[in-house]
Amino acid sequence: MLDVVVLGAGLAGLSAARDLRSSGCEVAVLEARDRIGGRVLQTTLDDGRLVQLGGELIGSTHTAYRALVGELGLTLRDSYIAEPGQTVWDIDDSVSVGDPAPWMTDEDRSDYDRVVGLFVDLAKGIDPDNPWSHPDAVALDATSFYHWLRSVGARDAVVRMFELAKAGLAADTLKRTSLLAELRKAAVAGDELVNYYDVDQWTRSTVAEGSATVAARMAEELAGHIRLSCVVTEIAVHPDHVDVMLATGEVIAAANVVCAIPVAPLRRVAISGLSDERLHALRRIRNSLSAKVVAAYETSFWRDLGKNGSSYSEGLVGATWIQGPGVISALVTPAQLAFHMAGDQSARDRDALEALARMYGPQAAKPKALFTREWSAEPFTLGYMAHYAPGDLTAIGPTHSRPEGRFFVAGSDYWVAGYMEGAVRTGRAAASAILAR
Ligand SMILES: Cc1cc2nc3c(=O)[nH]c(=O)nc-3n(C[C@H](O)[C@H](O)[C@H](O)COP(=O)(O)OP(=O)(O)OC[C@H]3O[C@@H](n4cnc5c(N)ncnc54)[C@H](O)[C@@H]3O)c2cc1C
Repeated sequence: MLDVVVLGAGLAGLSAARDLRSSGCEVAVLEARDRIGGRVLQTTLDDGRLVQLGGELIGSTHTAYRALVGELGLTLRDSYIAEPGQTVWDIDDSVSVGDPAPWMTDEDRSDYDRVVGLFVDLAKGIDPDNPWSHPDAVALDATSFYHWLRSVGARDAVVRMFELAKAGLAADTLKRTSLLAELRKAAVAGDELVNYYDVDQWTRSTVAEGSATVAARMAEELAGHIRLSCVVTEIAVHPDHVDVMLATGEVIAAANVVCAIPVAPLRRVAISGLSDERLHALRRIRNSLSAKVVAAYETSFWRDLGKNGSSYSEGLVGATWIQGPGVISALVTPAQLAFHMAGDQSARDRDALEALARMYGPQAAKPKALFTREWSAEPFTLGYMAHYAPGDLTAIGPTHSRPEGRFFVAGSDYWVAGYMEGAVRTGRAAASAILAR
């Protein structure tokens, strides 16, 4: 019998399996798709440039991911933050350029600073690993970020700025975001927290060799221990072992299971042998939905326009940023996703190019290559990043990421707000919890 069966070959499953293997455990990774990587995926243009179609950016708070990148012999480089030029603002049917946002008045900017100060003070009282322990956790969770902003008297322009920031991350709207979840995410920065969203802490770097290369390197180390095209349909946790059933009817037994399947596809997997509380928590977590658009051009033509390729928009894509030379990344916001998905591929492409052309001129409508990846419709992802609406954290409770018997979970969906950091952190934590036994 195997020591551990790991379900899902995303960053979480691979990092768990890698640590278990290197400690001598007999491990098998079962992956539904015919490729490894899950929500990290890259492709190569005919001129050799790598293009990331999934997870891409990391920051200083992403310590587990950074450590893994070092162990794998990979390197980090500056992300879009190194791009010269100014940011584009596509709001209210008009496009403006400038840093800071030119549509904010001096009064708006000082009110923004005031509100951020209040937010930071509140966030400093939250333990990101256990937000439920805060004495006002239930009330903070029941409050939407929007209602909190209004309760502290934030000006309309300031509320709009926060809404743009959420859209830029392809997160759900302020009204559909739990204040406690938002504070918890910010609290990850610890004593260094000074701003609502600090690019250094979240997005300042990317892996020079391509972010999907992190998964590929781990898979190379695990050669012979990963089985592709194995769709898990059932997990039975027994007192002395675990049985995992595949869609083919095959049953694989192991002493322990690390379940690194994202929360939405996991709802289709029958699970027995866990407490009702544990199962409810697993089923209750949700993702926000998004699609990624990547346009590759011969040159970084936006530089000639004095623009840096970064934008915030109330349109189809909430933000754009430079992925590398001549390559722009963008995310379709959850609010726009239904419209995006309702069109056929030609409509999706046309709408995405129109959005880019509004911000960067007619040249943006003629990329060398255009990719749209509808992650929320992919059956083995069905989402983008963990999202907590008001009341969600209270309903899910603290048990959701803890081991129960021989059942261990890993995955970015179990760490504050997702991210590749969450996948690696929880994957390695699951491995060390098993090894500690
Ligand atoms: C468009 C997009 C952009 C992103 N941008 C960033 C970013 O810039 N920075 C960042 O840090 N993060 C980003 N993320 C998030 C990040 O990519 C993910 O949080 C992370 O990669 C998830 O890793 P995981 O291992 O937890 O899950 P996944 O990568 O989803 O891996 C889960 C694996 O389980 C498999 N699976 C599913 N169902 C079954 C089944 N029934 N049986 C067997 N296997 C199954 C899947 O095929 C998959 O391989 C982005 C995500 C998306 C979609």
